[in-house]
Amino acid sequence: MQVSYIQVAIPVPMRQLFTYIVPATINGEDIQTGARVIVPFGHRQVIGIIISTSTTSDIEDKKLKSIISLVNDNFHLPPTLLKFLLRCADYYHHPVGDVLQLALPVLLRQVEQPTIDLATTWHSQQFEQVNEETVTLEKITKRAPKQAELYALINTHQGLTWAEIRTLGFTKAQLNTLEKKQLIEEKEQKSECFVYHDDALAEDEKLTLTVEQAVIVSAVKASFDQFSCHLVDGITGSGKTEVYLQAMEKTLAANKQVLVLVPEIGLTPQMLSRFEQRFNLPICLHHSGLNDKERLQTWLAAQRGTAAIIIGTRSAVFSPLHHLGLIIVDEEHDGSFKQQDSFRYQARDIAILRAGQLNIPIVLGSATPSLETLQNALSGKYQYHQLTQRPGQSTQSKITLINVAQQQMEHGLSGTLKKAIGTTLKRGEQALIFLNRRGYAPAINCQECHWIADCQRCNKPYTLHQGQKLLICHHCSSQKRIPYQCPSCGSVRIKPMGQGTEQLEERIGELFENYSTVRIDRDSTRKKGELAKLLQEVSDKKHQLLIGTQMLAKGHHFPDVTLVAVLDVDGALFSFDFRAAEHMAQLLVQVAGRAGRESKPGRVLVQTNFPDHPLLQDLVNNGYPHFAKYALTERKQALLPPFSYQALFRAEANYPSYPEKFLSALTDVTFDGCQFAGPVPAAMEKKAGKYRYHLIVQAKSRKQLHFAVYRLIHTIAQNEWQKKVRWTVDIDPLDLSW
Ligand code: ADP
Ligand code: ZN
Ligand code: ZN
Repeated sequence: MQVSYIQVAIPVPMRQLFTYIVPATINGEDIQTGARVIVPFGHRQVIGIIISTSTTSDIEDKKLKSIISLVNDNFHLPPTLLKFLLRCADYYHHPVGDVLQLALPVLLRQVEQPTIDLATTWHSQQFEQVNEETVTLEKITKRAPKQAELYALINTHQGLTWAEIRTLGFTKAQLNTLEKKQLIEEKEQKSECFVYHDDALAEDEKLTLTVEQAVIVSAVKASFDQFSCHLVDGITGSGKTEVYLQAMEKTLAANKQVLVLVPEIGLTPQMLSRFEQRFNLPICLHHSGLNDKERLQTWLAAQRGTAAIIIGTRSAVFSPLHHLGLIIVDEEHDGSFKQQDSFRYQARDIAILRAGQLNIPIVLGSATPSLETLQNALSGKYQYHQLTQRPGQSTQSKITLINVAQQQMEHGLSGTLKKAIGTTLKRGEQALIFLNRRGYAPAINCQECHWIADCQRCNKPYTLHQGQKLLICHHCSSQKRIPYQCPSCGSVRIKPMGQGTEQLEERIGELFENYSTVRIDRDSTRKKGELAKLLQEVSDKKHQLLIGTQMLAKGHHFPDVTLVAVLDVDGALFSFDFRAAEHMAQLLVQVAGRAGRESKPGRVLVQTNFPDHPLLQDLVNNGYPHFAKYALTERKQALLPPFSYQALFRAEANYPSYPEKFLSALTDVTFDGCQFAGPVPAAMEKKAGKYRYHLIVQAKSRKQLHFAVYRLIHTIAQNEWQKKVRWTVDIDPLDLSW
């Protein structure tokens, strides 16, 4: 039958589909759900996605527009992906057009069609005579060790793409030089489905599993063709990555794809190279550092099945995988899996949903599982696996608290800590000093009248960035020159207050002047390739003192770091956010995991004013698992998530009364099993000139929560304040400060 109407999702923030007429000139058989169409919308033409088709319409034909054309390039959203995306839009109560956009690379969202050239890959040249190769190689090894390293990499992993090479810390210049020297060559990538072959697995790289590891691998393999969710709760260094690698084998051998979600690609080069060493199969990376073309190529490699393994950050969960067989979420507790603006999805949670829809297994791994995940594992909803030992000789580092209230402090360092750093350096080992505050100082003030330089738009102090000679607001990013005189009393005695990583680097450099210091934070690694370069310098032992923010806490492997110092944990002990303690504990354990990874034992020193705080005591004496169970009983008593379910309505406007009244009006209705908390001003009450309010809806069950949110959103059309505010809804909110 000829289809005459289609319902289309359009990238606009509206919670509805739009109906269009299909002109008779278009063959009805070409109209498929998930396909892209060009449609008129207002005065523009936009790309929409067909969600459904019908032969009749409730709207009169004369009120409807016709589609302009159908995009006939086979790059539709596959049916299973479309179904998944619609579920996500539903779950997060987010406009469907917006959600679908996320699953398409930019180039496929444009009305002009992209020209698609295939990705190229790099291979080492086959030399006629061994002699030739050795001569050239000897030359470059002496003069350009980095080039030699890159050559060795390409030689062992034939077929790397530029995106992968870049992620592993090499430059285009190095690649080009090798090509000029005719050591390597570029080839077009094939676009057929990958096929598992005899050399796909590097057998000799495989480690003999410990009993704990083997149990997990066989449990995952056993559920290879059905849905099951596995939590691998394993201390840092216990061999989670090895478990992932071996659990993947069976899936790959069946020619099915594996999706690996990681918090941040740039931070895990070592993990990537382990995947590449193990599998001689096409691996694709998906992360924010890719340009539009590379994104499209990754998308196509997933959709056509060319890529066997996709490793990516949060949004890789929407990859159009042709034949997905297994999902792995590494560091599942990591906050970066939650998108904090517009479509606020949690990639780990919807990865589980996707695995369920496809009836495939999913593995969540962490040394510090989130309380939500842990509760699901303890209650039997997930299969719970623990790795309690580190294979080999390395032992877990012990955390010791330093009571700073009783010590003379110098630049934020206690005497005990200074001494410990000194001894570590003398032994020729490295120390990592962790301070979660970037910039030079968190504020500047006038010594005479105590005036503080505040960002007027956020009512919060400006952070001093000495290197850039600027004051920067960390909330709205506005910048200002450093005043010479106090605007309030005219004094020139303006001084920094408190200490950030930039200042700490300076002070530590002075205190330990015979050693080299390196700082790793968002500011020092802004330049492309800089992070990889600094990390390489650390492993080459060019630096002995590493200073950094939580960027340094994640996944790195520094064999010579034997001391980790945490300068300040107190903020999290007294926070309004009920998750602050959980996050603090996760961070501490992760940072501690950086020490003593190999045979050398590690120490972790934590400075605090509250060494007797029960949470700190529990964590230090009994470890994360005990802490987590205790924290869960507290949550249960207070009926907080995961023992209840939350949605957060946020509203902002130029005047505080608007968002308050807007949210207040929502609380007029009552819902079964649901409670409102608020409206209250957000913890960051003012940001970038806007006043912000919160309303939390808390329910005993998800079903009740979704029903309430659905109804509330529908009442908003009648809310008299709705035009005066900007509002959003966040399901399972993580960040309660905004
Ligand atoms: P995690 O991901 O849990 O932090 P990794 O997988 O990185 O741990 O493993 C930590 C170290 O232990 C690595 O150097 C790895 O090679 C080694 N390792 C892992 N499993 C085994 C094993 N079964 N036998 C020997 N060494 C192992
Ligand atoms: Zn003053
Ligand atoms: Zn600001």
